[in-house]
Amino acid sequence: MSFESLGLAPALLRALAEQGYAEPTPVQAGAIPLVLQGHDLLAAAQTGTGKTAAFALPLLHKLIDAPATMTRRPRALVLTPTRELAAQILDNAQAYGKHLRISAATIFGGVGMGPQINALRRGVDIVIATPGRLIDHMQQRTIDLSGIETLVLDEADRMLDMGFLPALKRILGALPRQRQTLLFSATFAPEIKALAMQFMREPREVTVTPPNTVAALVSHHVHPVDASRKRDLLLHVLSQDSRRQTLVFSRTKHGADKLVTFLNASGLRTAAIHGNKSQNARTKALADFKSSRITVLVATDIAARGIDIDQLPMVINFDLPMVAEDYVHRIGRTGRAGSEGMAVSLVSHDESGLLRDIRKLLKDEIAIDHVAGFEPSSPLRLDAGAPRPKQGQRQPRAPQRSQGSQQQRSQGSSQAHRPHGHAQKSSGEHAAGNRKRHRRPHPAAKA
Ligand code: AMP
Repeated sequence: MSFESLGLAPALLRALAEQGYAEPTPVQAGAIPLVLQGHDLLAAAQTGTGKTAAFALPLLHKLIDAPATMTRRPRALVLTPTRELAAQILDNAQAYGKHLRISAATIFGGVGMGPQINALRRGVDIVIATPGRLIDHMQQRTIDLSGIETLVLDEADRMLDMGFLPALKRILGALPRQRQTLLFSATFAPEIKALAMQFMREPREVTVTPPNTVAALVSHHVHPVDASRKRDLLLHVLSQDSRRQTLVFSRTKHGADKLVTFLNASGLRTAAIHGNKSQNARTKALADFKSSRITVLVATDIAARGIDIDQLPMVINFDLPMVAEDYVHRIGRTGRAGSEGMAVSLVSHDESGLLRDIRKLLKDEIAIDHVAGFEPSSPLRLDAGAPRPKQGQRQPRAPQRSQGSQQQRSQGSSQAHRPHGHAQKSSGEHAAGNRKRHRRPHPAAKA
C-alpha cells in the first residue's frame, strides 16, 4: 500500500516524501479513503500509530479540492484535550501542508486571546482548539463556526475524562449540522460510542489494534518497592543509562516538582511539565527534552497528553495512574512508530489494586521484577481486595501530605540507598518471557 494509491494530492505526497514517510500506517490506510469519501469516522487508534496524519492528510486534501469562500471563515475544527497536543497537530498539519496555501492556527488557554483573535480576523482555514478557550471565543463572538465542514475530535476519550463533555456538547451544538465528523480515541469506552451515536451520521469504524492495548514493541516491567524508597529506586533505574531520554509520570504536580528538585540535585538534567506551569515553561521543557538538553521530563497525566517524541526509549511510572486506561496513554509515549520501548512502573503495596486493574485491562502479563536492594517490606497483592491509594482524585489540587512525608523520609535516607549497581533480578512471578510476546512487528512496518 502506498500513499499514492490512497488518492492524495501531489502536493501532499511531496510533503510526505520529505517527511520520510514511506507508506501509510494501518490507521492511515483504513481512515484516509473513508474520510476522502465523505464518511463520518470512528477510529480506535492508540497514540503513536500515526493517527494525526490519518485525519490531517484527508482534511488538507479536501480543503484543496473545495475552494475557500471570500469570508475565510474556519472550515475545519480539530478539538484536542491539551495545549501540547494542539501545538503538535499544528506542527504536523503545517509539515504536511507546506506546499499548500492552507492556513491553520491553534486556540488554547494559557496565552493571550489577542493574537488568536487577530489570526481569526485575518482568516484561518483550520482551527485546532482546546474546548475551554474555544468556548471563550464563542462567547466573545470572536470566532464564527458557521462555515465548519469537518470536525475532528482527537483523543475524545481523554476529553471526556477531563470533564469536557458539557463543553463538547455546547461546541457541537454551534456547528453546522451538515458536516463530516471524525472521532479518534485510544480507547472505546461506552461513553465514546454514546457520543458518536448522538453526534455522528452512520460512522464507519476503523480499529487498528484491539481497544485498550499498548504499542506492540513495548516491554512492561513492574518493580515492587516501598513507597518511601521509590525516589531512590527511580534514581537507580535512571542511573543505569544517564543519557537515555526518559519520561517520568507523577500523579501530582507537587510530586512532580519534588522529583525534579531531587533528580537535578542528583545530577540528572530534569524538568517538569504540569498544569501549574505557564505555557511558556511547558513549551520550553518539552523543547529542551526533545533536543536532549534535559534527559528526564517529569510529567503529570494531563500535561503529558500528546507529547510526541521520536523514539522515546523509556517511560517510568513513578506513581501508577488512578485510572487504568491512563496506563495505556502514558505508555503510548514509548515504542512509537516502529521503535522499541520500555515501560517501568515503581509500585508500592498501597498501589496493588491499581496494578491489578492495569493487568486486567491489558489482558496480558506485566513482568514483576524485584530490584536487588529495593525489595519491599510488604509484598504486592493482586487479589480482589488489593489495597489502593487513599486519595480519590487523579490530579489533586493540593499537595498530598502522605506523599510529601514519604518523600521527606526518603530524602533523609537517600544517601544510604544510593544506587550501587545491583543488577535487576526477576522474582520469577510472570517474569521475563512477556518481553518476547510483545515483540511483534510494529503495525506501521506492515501497512
Ligand atoms: P501520531 O500517532 O499521530 O502521534 O504519530 C506518531 C509518530 O509517527 C509521529 O512522530 C509521526 O510523525 C509518525 N508517523 C506518522 N505517520 C507515519 C508514516 N506513515 N510513516 C512513518 N512515520 C509516521
